[in-house]
Amino acid sequence: MAMTPEEPRMRRVAIVGAGPSGLYAAGQLATQTDVEVAVDIYDRLPTPFGLLRYGVAPDHESVKSVAKTLAAAFDSPHVRYFGLVEVGTQVRPAQLLECYDAVIYAYGSENDRKLGIPGETELDGSRSAREFVSWYSGHPDAHAQDLDTVRNAVVVGVGNVAVDVTRILLKDPEELSVTDMPESVLAELRRTHVENVWLVGRRGPENASFTNKELRELLELDGVDTELVGADLTAIDVDLLDRKARSNVESIAAAIAEPKQGKRHLHLVFNHRPVAIKGVEGVTGVEFESNLDGSRFEVPADLVLRSIGYFGNPLPGVPFADGRIPNLEGRVTEEDGSSRPGEYVTGWIKRGPSGLIVGTARILPKPWRIWSQICSRCRSGSWLTRRNCWLSAASRRVRWPTGVASMRPRSRAAICVVASAPRSRPGTTCWIWSLPNRKKPSAESTIQEHDQLSI
Ligand SMILES: Cc1cc2nc3c(=O)[nH]c(=O)nc-3n(C[C@H](O)[C@H](O)[C@H](O)COP(=O)(O)OP(=O)(O)OC[C@H]3O[C@@H](n4cnc5c(N)ncnc54)[C@H](O)[C@@H]3O)c2cc1C
Repeated sequence: MAMTPEEPRMRRVAIVGAGPSGLYAAGQLATQTDVEVAVDIYDRLPTPFGLLRYGVAPDHESVKSVAKTLAAAFDSPHVRYFGLVEVGTQVRPAQLLECYDAVIYAYGSENDRKLGIPGETELDGSRSAREFVSWYSGHPDAHAQDLDTVRNAVVVGVGNVAVDVTRILLKDPEELSVTDMPESVLAELRRTHVENVWLVGRRGPENASFTNKELRELLELDGVDTELVGADLTAIDVDLLDRKARSNVESIAAAIAEPKQGKRHLHLVFNHRPVAIKGVEGVTGVEFESNLDGSRFEVPADLVLRSIGYFGNPLPGVPFADGRIPNLEGRVTEEDGSSRPGEYVTGWIKRGPSGLIVGTARILPKPWRIWSQICSRCRSGSWLTRRNCWLSAASRRVRWPTGVASMRPRSRAAICVVASAPRSRPGTTCWIWSLPNRKKPSAESTIQEHDQLSI
């Protein structure tokens, strides 16, 4: 029967990406009471939580615990999770737009920037910090890392991600064994003999973007001494600095004033940029140039991790510029600035790849306006011209990936993972991650007949 604008019906919203921003959006939609909304969250990975699971360092348990709050979205009977669905390849955004009243892009920034220097892409041992982070976080796409021969490492960049990878390289693996770091990663870290890590920034310590908490955690590592290269702290007037910059400069000053006897060495290099990664097949060294006087020096290196920023990927048919989706307060906009009906964006793909999870939460007023817009447009019935195709109906027209299954988490304590596409038949084994301690897959379950969508 044809639907009239007055006829109330549940609105359907698709969210692309189940990272913190997607789950936060889902939670906001699920808990508002203005209008009934059903939310489907799509993620290319089997599990939700994005970088909270596969980016935030395993030894930052308190940050990871945000997962419990975000998972509250799944308490709603109107929120469903579809893992292993990559929007853009398996399902096109245009198809989602046909099937849902609104689509919210929350797929983060999964690419990385390049330095553009010789040796960067061709030498074994030169890689992005993102790849390294994915590896130690157990990301399904990650390649194994062979660190056995690494004595000297260079980390390019002075943000929190650079500090994270440096800490993981220098920290005693036994201290990491209490985290949820995969066993294979711990085993590899136990095999390492890292003696030196050069953490290199192109500007001075007062301009580094790492936060003071992260920096102090690094400077306070047991058995690691710190050397400062390329910067004169006495020449910096700390009274002119903001709080973060001042505490960073003071923390570095304190660390070098009281040298530790360590077997491993952290070299903080400022005002320098790498100009070449040296080697024949594998990395053997890195040459740096001073941004102050142009002088150069080289350090030996077996591993180079570039940590100069993440970068977003475009989705077919969705506006994209400078690694982000252009928007006006979260509404996706065309090149001419006009907004695209029904399309919204949040998280890193909206603001660019910087900022803590809390920062994402703090941008609440703007996303909240989006949710109110969605809801008020729903109330006014202005979207009722859109086809109300619920997934099972849509599946006949849309080419869903074969065998995609959905399981509703039965409680906040467990996030059920869908089985991979070709194997997701009744009886297929799937893993259940337990949320409270987020240890490795702790139980197995089988997909039951009723857990599957009729697709
Ligand atoms: C190494 C690292 C360490 C960090 N540490 C901290 C920290 O200690 N504390 C802190 O507060 N913040 C930290 N952050 C920042 C925090 O992770 C981000 O602020 C936050 O994750 C951004 O959330 P998001 O939802 O926008 O993106 P993401 O977390 O990246 O989530 C995006 C989701 O979209 C999915 N996706 C991508 N493409 C597609 C597609 N085509 N189709 C379907 N799904 C797709 C991805 O699988 C992912 O699940 C860290 C970031 C990094 C990189």
